[in-house]
Amino acid sequence: MPSNKVRTRFAPSPTGYMHVGNLRTALYTYLMAKHEDGTFILRIEDTDQGRYVEGAVDVIYNTLRETGLLWDEGPDVGGPVGPYVQSERMGMFKQYAEQLVAEGKAYYCFCTEERLEALHAEQRANGEMTHYDGCCRDLPKEEVEKRLAAGEPYVIRQKIPKEGVTGFDDVVYGHIEVNNSEMDDQILIKTDGMPTYNFANVVDDHLMGITHVIRGSEYLSSTPKYNLLYQAFGWDIPTYIHCPPVMKDAQNKLSKRNGDASYQDLVAKGYLSDAVMNYICLLGWSPKGEYAEQEIFSLDELVKIWSPDGISKSPAIFDPLKLRAI
Ligand code: GLU
Repeated sequence: MPSNKVRTRFAPSPTGYMHVGNLRTALYTYLMAKHEDGTFILRIEDTDQGRYVEGAVDVIYNTLRETGLLWDEGPDVGGPVGPYVQSERMGMFKQYAEQLVAEGKAYYCFCTEERLEALHAEQRANGEMTHYDGCCRDLPKEEVEKRLAAGEPYVIRQKIPKEGVTGFDDVVYGHIEVNNSEMDDQILIKTDGMPTYNFANVVDDHLMGITHVIRGSEYLSSTPKYNLLYQAFGWDIPTYIHCPPVMKDAQNKLSKRNGDASYQDLVAKGYLSDAVMNYICLLGWSPKGEYAEQEIFSLDELVKIWSPDGISKSPAIFDPLKLRAI
């Protein structure tokens, strides 16, 4: 992507019905782009067909359209491409993994399910965390070629350095570090030739020129693995902004699968769209300076005053009674 401008993406998986916590992520992602006069992208991450929920994609499209969070690249808003749908892009990921194999940063792994199950059972019996033992990491080239030519099924794994640490800075959570020894040689391409969820996510963020990744804090622990991929390719690492969860009550997060707190339901119950957006924006984010005391904001005002520094680290509880008071 030629421009240095901010490019953000909302990357929902249609594994349930978008709730106000997901909508808040979309809103922050939109605000981050628009405040900087940048580009807001929508990418549907629908590679896990087993967890696909019928109708979930339509809820995402309708909610974003109704709340004014329009993505900038898409035929229906006059752009040349998009919204991006990952399942339509599956063919091109393997070549990226093969590039890493050619550079010695990834390898073909022929271990069968049975072997891995037996390995993990043994590790559990020894009180160890289950992990891949690197059996295929250093196979001689001729053996790999022979097994490929014989049509043996394989996955492609990334070689994770065995020593050192991988760290990153998150705008909300600060510096986070993981020992490389705690990370498995991650699978990039599965036996069916399709990318794993994490691999597709990283390759697509790079290809789409994403400068700021805004998503739920449940991805904090996977981010070092994502960074090892950026490093292997020599790609620029985006700025990370992880948001704490929106909770249903003190113990439970809002759940897509349970159909909790959807925007559509709230509007059907008579809540005004602008009030919902205003409320969820302030649920975990506070404006600074002269706006610190203001309680009602339009979307345009939010675009003007947005800064990710105002995002709080603490989970927020969604309370429809407070929303009613707006
Ligand atoms: N697809 C993920 C989800 O719906 C988000 C991943 C990301 O934003 O990197 O939870």
